Amino acid sequence: MKVRDTSIRNSLLEYVEKKALPVSAKEIHSSGGMGNISTVYRGLEYLEKKGSISSITVSCECGLVRYYYPQNSEKCFIHCRKCHRFFSVDALEFSDVEKKIEKKLNFRISERVMYFMGECRSCLK
Ligand SMILES: [Zn+2]
Ligand SMILES: [Zn+2]
Repeated sequence: MKVRDTSIRNSLLEYVEKKALPVSAKEIHSSGGMGNISTVYRGLEYLEKKGSISSITVSCECGLVRYYYPQNSEKCFIHCRKCHRFFSVDALEFSDVEKKIEKKLNFRISERVMYFMGECRSCLK
């Protein structure tokens, strides 16, 4: 492994953690300082395999885009299909629903991948 790759991975992880909302490889790349786009993709893939970050794929007018977020994020994400911004709510808000599902299916939920699509407050105006 090259030293450069390691430092880019660290910067990528830092970026995703700081951002807290899902971010695409393109967006990270355009922020600069992370090498070329394929280095960014490779780095993100590595971090996801390692379990440091997770991703969701959102299908929207902007295409089928993969967004990355911190692994330990206890958030449910909301994507605006008009301005393509992300918002989030605490996943805790769904804990009652989760308990019901666990009881009904006799299933233990250990991970959640959740997002909603719609129109945000500014786009509804
Ligand atoms: Zn919007
Ligand atoms: Zn979008």
